[in-house]
Amino acid sequence: MIQLKNAQEINKIRESCHLLSEMFDILRKQIEPGITTGELDETAYDFITKNGGKPAFLGYMGFPASLCTSVNEEVIHGIPGNRKLHEGDVVSIDCGIDFHGYFSDSAFTAAVGSVGKEVSQLLKTTEESLYLGIEQAVNKNRIHDISRAVYNHADEKGYGVVRQYTGHGVGFSQHEDPQIPNYIGRNPNPRIKPGMVLAIEPMINLGTWKVAELDDGWTVITADRSVSAHFEHTVAVYEDHTEILTRQEFPVLN
Ligand code: MG
Ligand code: MG
Repeated sequence: MIQLKNAQEINKIRESCHLLSEMFDILRKQIEPGITTGELDETAYDFITKNGGKPAFLGYMGFPASLCTSVNEEVIHGIPGNRKLHEGDVVSIDCGIDFHGYFSDSAFTAAVGSVGKEVSQLLKTTEESLYLGIEQAVNKNRIHDISRAVYNHADEKGYGVVRQYTGHGVGFSQHEDPQIPNYIGRNPNPRIKPGMVLAIEPMINLGTWKVAELDDGWTVITADRSVSAHFEHTVAVYEDHTEILTRQEFPVLN
């Protein structure tokens, strides 16, 4: 069941989203060769709790941290720890905040120092495919319009589009209906309506779309160990526009 949100509820979700986007600005500056993923997680935990929020991932189905930190061939759900980031790595940071019962969700992939052209192109295309998806996340369109826009842009460049994990509704909890796949499958294809709050999140691989899970029971990697990228925003749909809640600058796309 898709739960629509009223204006007051979206205002609360926006607060959660803005807190998350503020935190990402801090993390982006911290990502440098030599830092550990555990140190990034500590920054996140401190920031969220000092601001009166709860790290929504911490304890979610037993996940042990506030951030997912996925390095290089890791797609999503990487567990922060002692791993040091090195020049030329990429790290995907994914986080959700529970702010007084209202949930946000966002992710980005950052280059650590400088990365090769092939990898920076992957990051650029993945972020572009997120924005192309968001452009379709408007009143009266359908979920598959988002999926198609994301998929086509990444597929055109020959990248693998992850199928096993999808975007989703968000706001009253971390994961709600509808599912928002990054390809057109056999999932339901509901119409997009005002009051929907959606987390759109392309996960795109340099190589195959296929993924595997590590023995830690969490970390998802690409099946061919190629590099992967992940960008995600939470957006709110209104009658005549869509607002990117997890981006404070230029939140409205026309
Ligand atoms: Mg996320
Ligand atoms: Mg998500």
